[in-house]
Amino acid sequence: MLEKMKKVVLLGPQASGKSTQAKVITDFLNIPLIAASQALRKVVAKDSSLGRKIKEKMDQGLLVPDNQMITLILGELGRDHCRNGFLLDGFPRNLNQGQALESSCGVEKVFNIEISDQEAMRRILGRRMCKNGHVFHLEYKPSEKGDVCDICAEELYQRDDDKEEVVKKRLAIYRDETSKLLDYYKKKDKLVVFDGQKDMADVSEDILNYLKSHVG
Ligand SMILES: [Zn+2]
Repeated sequence: MLEKMKKVVLLGPQASGKSTQAKVITDFLNIPLIAASQALRKVVAKDSSLGRKIKEKMDQGLLVPDNQMITLILGELGRDHCRNGFLLDGFPRNLNQGQALESSCGVEKVFNIEISDQEAMRRILGRRMCKNGHVFHLEYKPSEKGDVCDICAEELYQRDDDKEEVVKKRLAIYRDETSKLLDYYKKKDKLVVFDGQKDMADVSEDILNYLKSHVG
């Protein structure tokens, strides 16, 4: 059965290839991508009461409280460029945010790109970069010059954010926050799971096939 699908949430842990797949989805459905990270940067750069409150939390390294995230994102979705739909990335992050979204405009589908923690770790821990931002991977895209950059010969290093303990902690938080959210959407029959362990191009194909056979 073909359905209307213009309001979609994209979920998946770090390194699940979400940004690549977001482009596939927004291109096919012709909807804008609303990324929580970008909305945060935008609001913090502006002088508004919400922006000041959020900046205060971020400057202290604290999580932005649910009510502020909800105000920010629902505000964004109410704007003109979202009137024909949107793809949400990075929101909702937990059940509370998901319920707030459902009781406002709601969504038709939630796409979850699932990869194991083990696979996420493999993808993240192998990352190396140089100070000019050229990115390599020990396994998938090694530099031909070993521990210096192929392109600019600068030394390659691992970002602090990509170190094992940090990544483990971040994944654990993600699982903890999203497990109830996934159950919630599953019960509402909105959850569509894609196998993110495959090659990125194959995941894109799975998503496109789903969209082609479901969207009217
Ligand atoms: Zn380089």
